[in-house]
Amino acid sequence: MHTLNRTQDFEYITFPSLQGYGGLFHCFTTRKGGVSSEEFASMNLGMGTGDDVENVEKNYEIMSKRLGIRLKDIVETDQTHTNNVRYVTDKDKGRAMKDPDYNDVDGLYTDIRNIALMTFHADCTPLFFYDTVKNAIGMAHAGWRGTLQNIAGKMIDAMVKDLGCNPKDMKAVIGPSLGQCCFEVDEDVAAMFLSYDSSYSELMVKKGEKFHFDLWEINKRLMVKHGMDENSIEVSGLCTKCNRELFFSHRGQKGKRGLMCGIIMLK
Ligand SMILES: [Zn+2]
Repeated sequence: MHTLNRTQDFEYITFPSLQGYGGLFHCFTTRKGGVSSEEFASMNLGMGTGDDVENVEKNYEIMSKRLGIRLKDIVETDQTHTNNVRYVTDKDKGRAMKDPDYNDVDGLYTDIRNIALMTFHADCTPLFFYDTVKNAIGMAHAGWRGTLQNIAGKMIDAMVKDLGCNPKDMKAVIGPSLGQCCFEVDEDVAAMFLSYDSSYSELMVKKGEKFHFDLWEINKRLMVKHGMDENSIEVSGLCTKCNRELFFSHRGQKGKRGLMCGIIMLK
């Protein structure tokens, strides 16, 4: 069961699988504790969402202070629903969004301390990775496209190949995002999932004309397929659309919403 932490008005979630490691910081932010209003209320961390830039900047300052993370230590994704993962170092700090060479990055990993890996979410699944022996971390944005393209497995393979990680030493958390209750697609998308892996039919329910997939379980299966132990994977079970007082939800707010962040860092 996740922990809802509160520092003044700022609320963020941590997960038991990643707690208790002295060298590790992780969290998933919520919509609580910022200065933005209306559909962005209040802790919107997404530039380019339509919110006032000043409010978002203020939110970054508040988040940084509450979590004890220096803004200059953050490396953000430049998410475009790909399965691209990237190894990042100190020189990548502050590059996202500004550097034309830093496009189409939906997953980040590193083994270097004091780099806060950050992904953005409002329904799409956050995936946290931690190799407890190699002391290496990964953070991915897995929407349905990223899930379908196996960004989870790609992250594990990259951490194994580049950092010498062993999947058996890795922990993962599948964080707050659309549950099977709320992730519905039409037949064309359903067909894409079933053609990728016909066993996904076990994780699909048809309701009227719509098809509901369990993206959490699909990501979990992909992680196991790439060598992780099932017992090392935590599914938070928190649906963003069902818990809209705590989370932004793209589908629940018809596209007008702020963004929350998954953050992981080696201290
Ligand atoms: Zn739901």
